[in-house]
Amino acid sequence: MFKSLFRKSSRKFILLLVVVLLVTSVGIISSLQKATAASIHLTLGNPSGATTSQNNFDNYLLEKTQYALSYSDFRKIPNWVSWQLNKSWLGSAPRQNNFRADTTLPSGWYQVTSSDYTDSGFDRGHMCPSADRTNTITNNSATFLMTNIVPQAPDNNQGYWAQLEDYARSLVSTQGKELYIIAGGYGSAGTIANGKVTIPARLYKIIVVTDPGTGAQGVNTNTRVIAIDTPNVQGNRNANWGDFRTTVDSIEAKTGYDFLSNVDGYTQSVIEAKVDNGLTS
Ligand code: MN
Ligand code: MN
Repeated sequence: MFKSLFRKSSRKFILLLVVVLLVTSVGIISSLQKATAASIHLTLGNPSGATTSQNNFDNYLLEKTQYALSYSDFRKIPNWVSWQLNKSWLGSAPRQNNFRADTTLPSGWYQVTSSDYTDSGFDRGHMCPSADRTNTITNNSATFLMTNIVPQAPDNNQGYWAQLEDYARSLVSTQGKELYIIAGGYGSAGTIANGKVTIPARLYKIIVVTDPGTGAQGVNTNTRVIAIDTPNVQGNRNANWGDFRTTVDSIEAKTGYDFLSNVDGYTQSVIEAKVDNGLTS
């Protein structure tokens, strides 16, 4: 009888200990996550849990002043690029057009060059657009690093993709909004540069429209979220970007990423399930 009483209470004690340890470790982990999410461009989260480990060949985190990205050394393109856009990033710096290798990649990794795209039939497609970084020449120049570039079908790049970029900037310049944007590609439609650089089969973009300075806490169930998922092909240059709207949930299912992970779970579940039906110009 004494023995079973002891067993019962020690079981309770062990259970309590486990709960205390769990709560403590969750606290430590979440404060660690906060400490590593230093980049303003990752305010809404790090969609693939990218890290700066040089062994993380397929999901390597590059944090720049101008944007943050996950790079794949297998595909030789970014998995996603994430950036903040508000009025402070916009100015009159001219387009630098200085496409060049990103020498900040880990040593030994192939550095894609501008000429890898020559005669490929694909544009050097910016993820963070040149025109989103015009406050200084340095910031504009950073968008021409090849780690911010994917092989993009000219009709996609120069057609509806460019129109959505223009529309996003208009939300900033005419409505004073602060945007958090994530763009990337998934799937494979072959390669360029003798097999080195993967052509993503699809290109997606997610735009969260917020009020300046409100961050992840400012995102609520009424926040406008524009998500598009487009085919990286020729032949539809005059399409409207609005026709490619989809849900964040759908892009999460296709990529395996968790977008907007710093937004509370309930709000994510609501805004990630909606298809935007707002204005398109
Ligand atoms: Mn472009
Ligand atoms: Mn999510």
